[in-house]
Amino acid sequence: MKTSHEPTSGFVYLVGGGPGDPRLLTLRGAECLRRADVVLYDYLVNPQILEHVGPDAEKICLGKHGRTRIWTQAEINDRLVLEARGGKTVVRLKGGDPVLFARLAEELDALGSANIPYEIVPGITSALAAASYAGIPITQRDGASALALVTGQERTGKPYTSVDYNALAKFPGTLAFYMGVTTAPVWSGELLRQGMAADTPVLIVRRASLSDQTSIATTLGAVADVLSELRPPAIVIVGEVAKPKTENHGIQSSWFTARPLFGQTVLVARPVHQAAALVAPLQELGADVLLQPAIEIGPPDDWSAVDQAIAELPAYQWLVFSSSNGVDGFLERLLETGHDLRSLGHLQLAAVGPGTARALKRYHLQADVCPREHRAEDLAAALLQTDGGNAFLLVRGSRGREVLEDTLQHAGKKVTKIVAYLSQDTPRAAPLAAQRMAANEIDWTIASSSAIAKSLVRLFGESLRKTRLASISPITTQTLNELGFQAEVEATQYTMPGIVDAILQAVEATEKCVTEENK
Ligand code: SAH
Repeated sequence: MKTSHEPTSGFVYLVGGGPGDPRLLTLRGAECLRRADVVLYDYLVNPQILEHVGPDAEKICLGKHGRTRIWTQAEINDRLVLEARGGKTVVRLKGGDPVLFARLAEELDALGSANIPYEIVPGITSALAAASYAGIPITQRDGASALALVTGQERTGKPYTSVDYNALAKFPGTLAFYMGVTTAPVWSGELLRQGMAADTPVLIVRRASLSDQTSIATTLGAVADVLSELRPPAIVIVGEVAKPKTENHGIQSSWFTARPLFGQTVLVARPVHQAAALVAPLQELGADVLLQPAIEIGPPDDWSAVDQAIAELPAYQWLVFSSSNGVDGFLERLLETGHDLRSLGHLQLAAVGPGTARALKRYHLQADVCPREHRAEDLAAALLQTDGGNAFLLVRGSRGREVLEDTLQHAGKKVTKIVAYLSQDTPRAAPLAAQRMAANEIDWTIASSSAIAKSLVRLFGESLRKTRLASISPITTQTLNELGFQAEVEATQYTMPGIVDAILQAVEATEKCVTEENK
């Protein structure tokens, strides 16, 4: 029973983080992470999942084999209780599902004894993710009517016989081994000894759902040898369902690994609120996308020039936007200051490219002029070809090229330029991105503007040579060159889909070369 002088008790969520792909976390899991004051997480949990955690929450890693000290179970239990007693909302984040091979019983006992309320949030367990991502049904009408989830690793100090291999060898269905890599000689040896056929099909799925997933088909007789060459984590599926579709043993392809950008890690450097146009299509093509904004967008220090321009809108005939941030900055200010879209009724609208035109559409505004590609030169040319007035209000960010203003002025137009948002370089790269860049783990980095290109060079320095740079346009490529870097590919269409296309073509061309060399 709680007494009145006890601090309010906190709450513990025991959350399953899923097999690896951060998008396989449940919605409930994400909700708990957003709510947490403290997160205690296993090293197997993908650090990208922690992006759901609020900026002020404490994130505690419980250790990584061979790298840092690993917390004992007693230490974990004590800390859970301590934090919850201090009134905190705690998330205990585990790989896969928390009720499977996750030492949940010990934690529930500790919470129970301390009278701490908790909730268990399921996750996708790695055996089921391995089957889905390797493209095999793990039960099957004609043969595998049951599934056994088995640990290859018995509790230390206990003899292996506590797993009944005799029963498992006769099991009428599929076996899925967790933690079975280093212990393969033991469990596979026992199954063989108990009479399971040496040619029983086996599929090893290593790092299921991650960008370096591999699945290898083999047999029970050979699995220990194959696993001696592999490092955990892996799930080993034993039974008829594991039989390869062709007779070929060895590396198997699946819907997941066959996607065109599978295995490619791509760093996207756009601000978070603008990254979706790159992240979504890249992920759909199978790439592993890392988000590291190189510039940050914020409101200008001073709105007075914008406010004055808003007050003088009747004097203009053209309102010209050179980015979607400009659209948001300007229109939000217009609305916030008590105006509405009627103030724009007499104006012609221009957008520098399709992205900016789409931003206008979100405010139910249609661009009268929009070049097919995002380039100030094309916009200037298009504007000079149209008639409809001489007074231009250019809405732009705190930095950008002067081409548009110069060209219009040179042609005798009246041009006013206002800054509707501030664009600043991100001061430093997130540790994860910096570490992966330095470790040569990022295949592509996208420079989607000159400002981003400059900031990338500052953020990563010489490490940026360890990645291939994809540039959105000749101007961005030139900026990279001036900084001493080469673009590996340049988009033919200077848009986000154009960049994705350029990367895709480069990857497909390399793969074609490799296949031909192997012929
Ligand atoms: N609670 C977890 C299991 C933890 S035991 C779950 O439900 O999945 C750790 C074992 O999980 C590893 O030894 C390995 O067998 C398996 N595992 C975890 N992540 C994996 C992944 N991405 N691919 C294959 N196996 C994985």
